[in-house]
Amino acid sequence: MNVKVFGVVGAGQMGNGIAQVAAASGLDVIMNDIKDVFVENGMRTIAASLERSVAKGRMTAEEKGEILGRIKTSTDLNDMARADYVVEAATEREDLKFAIFRDLDQRCPAHTILATNTSSIPIGRIAAQTGRPANVIGMHFMNPVPVMKLVEIIRGLATSDDTFDLTWSLTERFGKTPAEANDFPGFIANRILMPMINEAVFCLYHGVGEAEAIDTVMKLGMNHPMGPLALADLIGLDTCLAIMQTLYDGFNDSKYRPCPLLRKYVEAGWLGRKSGRGFYRYDQK
Ligand code: NAD
Repeated sequence: MNVKVFGVVGAGQMGNGIAQVAAASGLDVIMNDIKDVFVENGMRTIAASLERSVAKGRMTAEEKGEILGRIKTSTDLNDMARADYVVEAATEREDLKFAIFRDLDQRCPAHTILATNTSSIPIGRIAAQTGRPANVIGMHFMNPVPVMKLVEIIRGLATSDDTFDLTWSLTERFGKTPAEANDFPGFIANRILMPMINEAVFCLYHGVGEAEAIDTVMKLGMNHPMGPLALADLIGLDTCLAIMQTLYDGFNDSKYRPCPLLRKYVEAGWLGRKSGRGFYRYDQK
C-alpha cells in the first residue's frame, strides 16, 4: 500500500514528535487531540524543534515551512477517515486506548493500518477491540522522537505480514532503525528499562541515596547518558507508573510491583518535566 496521509492521535510529547518525523519524510499528516490547546502546544513544539535544526544548519527555513505546511491539526476523530496509516499516541491507559481503537475502526477505511505507540499494553488486547486485527500493530517510538533512532515493532498474534512489512518500511523512511519484539507486556524496551527505573525509585524510597547520587552512580558508573530518575522525569511519572502496573498485572509477579513513592508522586501531580516537578524541579523559564 502507498501511504499518503498519516494520522497521529494524541499530540503530547510522543505524538507531536511522530507527526514531525512523518511530515519530514514527505507524508501529509493529520495530528489529533481532544482540545485545541493540546494540538496548538504540539505544533509549537514541532516548530521549535525544526527551528533548532535551522539554527544548526541542518535544514533551511524553507524546508521547515514545508514540513509545518504538511501537518494539519484536528480535534475531531472523524478526520482520521482520510488516513491510510494511523499511530495512536494517547495517554497510557488501557480503557482509553481501547475506546480510541473502537472509534478508529468505525471511522477509517478498511485498508487503514492502526498502529499504537503504547509502551506496554499487549497489542493483541488492543487489536481485539477492532474488526481488523490483521491491520493492528505496535509501533513504539523512543523519546525524544526526532532524536532517537530506535522504533520497536510489535506484532499481535493476528498482525499480517503486509502490516508488519509496511510498518518496517515506514520506520526506515522516517530515518529510524526498527527492531522486532513479540507481544508481551512491556515488549523488550520497557521490560528491561522500567524495572531498573522502579528500582532506582526504591533506592530513593529506602534512603539508599539521594536522587542526584543515584543518577550519578548510573551515569558515571554504568555509562548511561541519563540517570534513571532524570529519565523517569523525561518519560513522565504517570507513564512510568502505568507501565509498571501493566507489567505487574500482566505477569502476576511481585518483582514488578510499582514503588509506593512513584505512586505517591503521581497522585500529587508530580509527573516530571511535563508538570514542572518530579524527582527534580524544572523552572518554567
Ligand atoms: P503525554 O501525556 O505527553 O500526551 C498524551 C496526549 O494524549 C495528551 O495530549 C492527551 O490530551 C492526549 N489524549 C488523551 N486522550 C485522547 C483521546 N481520546 N484522543 C486524542 N488524544 C488524547 O504522553 P506521551 O508521553 O506523549 O505518551 C503517549 C503514549 O506514548 C503513551 O502510550 C506512552 O506510553 C507512549 N510512550 C511514551 C514515551 C515517553 O517517553 N513518554 C516513550 C514511548 C512511548
